Amino acid sequence: MELNTEMMIRVGAALCVFLALAFWEVLAPRRAMLIGRARRWPSNLGIVVLDAMLVRLLIPVAAVGIAVLAAQRGWGLLNITPWPVWLEVLMGFLALDLAIYAQHVAFHKVPLLWRLHRMHHADLDIDVSTGLRFHPIEIVLSMLIKIAVVVLIGVPAVAVVAFEVVLNATSMFNHSNAAMPTWLDRIVRLIVVTPDMHRVHHSVLRHETDSNFGFNLPWWDRVFGTYRAQPQAGHERMTIGLPVFRDPRELRLDRLITQPFRDDANAAVTAPAIESEQAEPR
Ligand SMILES: [Zn+2]
Ligand SMILES: [Zn+2]
Repeated sequence: MELNTEMMIRVGAALCVFLALAFWEVLAPRRAMLIGRARRWPSNLGIVVLDAMLVRLLIPVAAVGIAVLAAQRGWGLLNITPWPVWLEVLMGFLALDLAIYAQHVAFHKVPLLWRLHRMHHADLDIDVSTGLRFHPIEIVLSMLIKIAVVVLIGVPAVAVVAFEVVLNATSMFNHSNAAMPTWLDRIVRLIVVTPDMHRVHHSVLRHETDSNFGFNLPWWDRVFGTYRAQPQAGHERMTIGLPVFRDPRELRLDRLITQPFRDDANAAVTAPAIESEQAEPR
C-alpha cells in the first residue's frame, strides 16, 4: 500500500469520526463542562497539528513502512512460520493493543514518562478533543515503541493500518462527552472502552487515574487487575484533571508544550482545595 494512501485513509477516517462525535456531544452531552470548548479546542487541536508535523518530519517511514519491510525480510515472530493471513492480522492487532496498554501503564509509573503523559491528563474537561491531546514527545516515543513491536512480532502492514485507524477512532470515542444509556454502555464496554470507562482514568483522584489504562480493547484492564467500573463521585460530580495545572491559563498551547519541563507554581495553593483524597504529590 502506498504511504500516501495510508495517510489519506487515516486522516479521512479520523475527520469523519471526530465530526460525528463532536455532533453527538452537542446533541446529548454526558456532563456539564467546567471550561467548555472555546477555550480548550484551539490548543487541543493545535497540538494535533504539531504532533502530525513532528511525526512526519522525524519518522518519515512510519510503522506501516516498517511492516512492509519486515514482511519482505522475514523479520519478526509471525514471519518465522507461515500462518493463515487472517490469524496473522488478528495476532498482530492484539499484540499492538497489548503493547499500547503496557506503554500507557509505563507512562504512569515511570516519573520521567509521567511528566510527558500528564499533559494529556491536565485537561480540565474531557471531550473528543482530549482524545487527540498528547505531548509531541509522547507521540514520537509511542511511534518508536509501535515500530519496535512491528519488527519483533512481524505485524502485517494491513493490521498496522487497521490498528492505527481503529485506535484513533476509539481514542476519540472513549474521550467524548457523549451520553449513552447505561444498559448500552454495559454491553459496549465488553468489546471496546466506552466514554464512561475511560472518564474514570481522567479523575483527579490518583487511584482512579491509575486505572482503566486501555484505549481500545477493555480486556487488558480486567486481566491485569487495573479495571474500575465507575468513578466514586459519579460521572456528573467527579473532578476531571490533576491536582496540578488547574489554572485555566494552563490550557494554552504554549503551556501544554512546556508542562513536562515545569512544576506547577500554583500547586500548593490549588491542590488541597479540590477533593478529600489526593494530597500525595506526583
Ligand atoms: Zn493516562
Ligand atoms: Zn485519556
